[in-house]
Amino acid sequence: MLDCAIIGGGPAGLTAGLYTTRGGLKNVTMFEMGMPGGQITQSSEIENYPGFFEHGKTGMDFMDTWQKQCFNFGLKHEMKKVERVAKIGKYFTITFEGGESVEAMTVIVCTGSTPKRAGFPGEDEYFGKGVSTCATCDGFFYKNKPVTVLGGGDTALEEAFYLSNIASEVYVVHRRDTFRAAPPTLDRVKRKENIHLITDSVIEEVLGDAMGVSGVKLKNKQGEVTQLDNPGLFVFVGHDVNNMVLKDENGTFICEVNDRGQVIVDLNMKTSVSGLFSAGDMRIEAPKQVISAAGDGSIAGLQVISYIQEQA
Ligand code: FAD
Ligand code: NAP
Repeated sequence: MLDCAIIGGGPAGLTAGLYTTRGGLKNVTMFEMGMPGGQITQSSEIENYPGFFEHGKTGMDFMDTWQKQCFNFGLKHEMKKVERVAKIGKYFTITFEGGESVEAMTVIVCTGSTPKRAGFPGEDEYFGKGVSTCATCDGFFYKNKPVTVLGGGDTALEEAFYLSNIASEVYVVHRRDTFRAAPPTLDRVKRKENIHLITDSVIEEVLGDAMGVSGVKLKNKQGEVTQLDNPGLFVFVGHDVNNMVLKDENGTFICEVNDRGQVIVDLNMKTSVSGLFSAGDMRIEAPKQVISAAGDGSIAGLQVISYIQEQA
């Protein structure tokens, strides 16, 4: 029986592992289906994590020292894909791909969320080299430079507004002529002089070379092709929350989630199920930043220790 099973080995899961083991729990295992580190290992540079500021250091370098520190206090790691978490009586059963399972007193689920891809040519090739899904992370790289934003929802327009205070010009490309975003958000964007809305248009292709993105080719409803020579392209076409492990065999969530599939937690990262915690990008209102995912992980770790003490 594990004291705590942590599912997902990104910043939230690793930090939860550090806090639970350093706080005295002896039997904590983190189940991560790939290498530990999470999404940030795809980043070529991180400028907004205080204390880590070295040009040329990638997200992979960052998470390398991070995981060494987290494993230092006894956190165990197993490279396994979790299929399902179930609470049977007082304890949890964690079932892995292949059918094997393990029991745990507590579970912290930190499986993150995945920004959707739009599917245009060059999107994957230039991801992290000019194509981004995070304005807070990468906006500053385009200070006083023009950028393109793809999408017509609340995220695209809110992020376009954020970018308009950093970039010289922001070109929002949307495939329809009406926006999904809330009317007040659209009004605010329309009032901003350096935001330009390009509707009824799709990205035909992202252009670039070894240095990264150099522009995008657009095609409108009439079939006319134009080009924007903007070095940054931000894609905001929705997110998939990685919440599958919280569904039972009938596809029903075992804890409360909102209409977007994000796990509902309180300020202690407690879900609606006693002993089950969730942290990081998959929870409601997540800022989707390394520092906040790590903060969540520390809170969940401390709460697990209190929970186990209360049960004794
Ligand atoms: P994740 O990092 O997504 O980790 C979740 C982990 O769970 C993954 O490793 C995944 O493999 C694992 N997992 C999922 N399902 C299962 C399963 N069923 N079984 C086992 N394991 C599973 N943030 C910043 O603060 N600054 C930046 O500069 C920055 N730049 C970014 C650049 C890029 C290219 C990307 C993609 C993101 C960037 N972010 C940045 C955002 C940051 O990476 C995320 O906010 C953060 O990683 C979220 O941490 P997390 O632990 O919640 O989830
Ligand atoms: P969203 O509402 O699903 O919008 C996605 C946008 O991307 C849509 O405009 C969609 O176009 C476009 N799109 C999807 N696939 C595309 C593709 N392959 N190519 C080009 N464009 C594509 O996603 P979101 O903006 O991330 O918002 C998700 C949810 O969070 C929504 O309910 C939203 O209201 C909410 N949210 C709220 C706030 C807030 O209240 N402040 C902030 C952010 C998000 P179509 O419109 O044509 O489908």
